[in-house]
Parts: sequence; C-alpha cells; structure tokens
Amino acid sequence: MNLQSKKTFASINYEKCHPNGCNPDKGLCPAVPACEHKVIKQLDGAFEQPMIFQDMCMGCWDCIEACPLGAIETKHVGA
Ligand code: SF4
Ligand code: SF4
Repeated sequence: MNLQSKKTFASINYEKCHPNGCNPDKGLCPAVPACEHKVIKQLDGAFEQPMIFQDMCMGCWDCIEACPLGAIETKHVGA
C-alpha cells in the first residue's frame, strides 16, 4: 500500500469531543453516519468518544461539517 501521498486527514480533538453534548438523547456521534467511507467509529458504544481510522480517511471533511462542537480538525503530515 502506498500512503506517501497521504498528507491530510481528519483528527478528533478529544478535549472538545463530548458525545453527550452533541447528541444528549442517544449519545451517538453524528459524524459517524456522515462519513460515507465509514472510517469513524464509536468502538466503545454510545456516549463514548469516536475514533478515526486515519489511514483510510479520504479527506472529504464531511465529518467536520457534521460535528456541532467543532471537535474534528484537519491534520497535516509531511511537507
Ligand atoms: S466528534 Fe463531534 S459529533 Fe462526534 S461525538 Fe465528538 S463532539 Fe460529537
Ligand atoms: S474527512 Fe471524510 S473520510 Fe475522513 S473521517 Fe471525515 S468524513 Fe470520513
């Protein structure tokens, strides 16, 4: 697999991420269904912070628009 061209991906700021704040009723992260590439997952279930499988992130930023708390940021690596 060639990841050399991979330079930007989504990253969660865990200080800003609060599933009980963005979705108080169910604790489900709205960014999870927004990511059509399915690389954001709440592995530990509802009301737990999600994680992003950054190697597979396509950099479309749909998740950033879906997060009402501004907890998802772009991250750049390399030049
Ligand atoms: S990433 Fe954003 S939308 Fe998802 S649980 Fe955290 S604060 Fe909520
Ligand atoms: S930038 Fe796109 S592919 Fe990457 S986690 Fe967000 S929605 Fe998914």
